Amino acid sequence: MATERTLSIIKPDATRRNVTGKIIDKLESAGLRVIAQKRVRWSQAYAEAFYAVHKERPFFNDLVAFMTSGPVVMQVLEGDDAVATNRKVMGATNPADAEAGTIRADFAESIEANSVHGSDSAENAAAEIAQCFSEGEIVG
Ligand code: ATP
Ligand code: MG
Repeated sequence: MATERTLSIIKPDATRRNVTGKIIDKLESAGLRVIAQKRVRWSQAYAEAFYAVHKERPFFNDLVAFMTSGPVVMQVLEGDDAVATNRKVMGATNPADAEAGTIRADFAESIEANSVHGSDSAENAAAEIAQCFSEGEIVG
């Protein structure tokens, strides 16, 4: 298995409920290492740019409003097959479909307020990491 990096975001529903540590524990227990991390409040422009791929989707405006409704914790995760490993521990987008023990099964409130983001390919991971962190903020 190849060592890879992926972008993870703990979303405002989770920061609001003070469960960031419990979520990070699940990521670390799955073999991922947090090699960069920062807690920030996204502006509308930042959220629109980050989710630009979804701008034609009917839920886009609601998603931007949700992602700017409170702090988020952005992190770079490193590990074997980090993109797929992170997606597996996150669980399905809709918590109703998420496998038991996954982050979304245990913490998500709804298909929108689903506690975490994870890059969906190595290519998107590289682009999202570059969007959220400077090289000097990543310490592997
Ligand atoms: P993420 O990109 O956040 O890791 P994902 O890849 O599982 O999640 P996407 O299809 O990329 O899901 O959707 C991005 C985000 O948009 C979802 O995580 C969720 O917060 C929101 N979302 C997706 N589908 C819906 C929907 N039908 N209604 C409301 N919000 C949605
Ligand atoms: Mg996605």
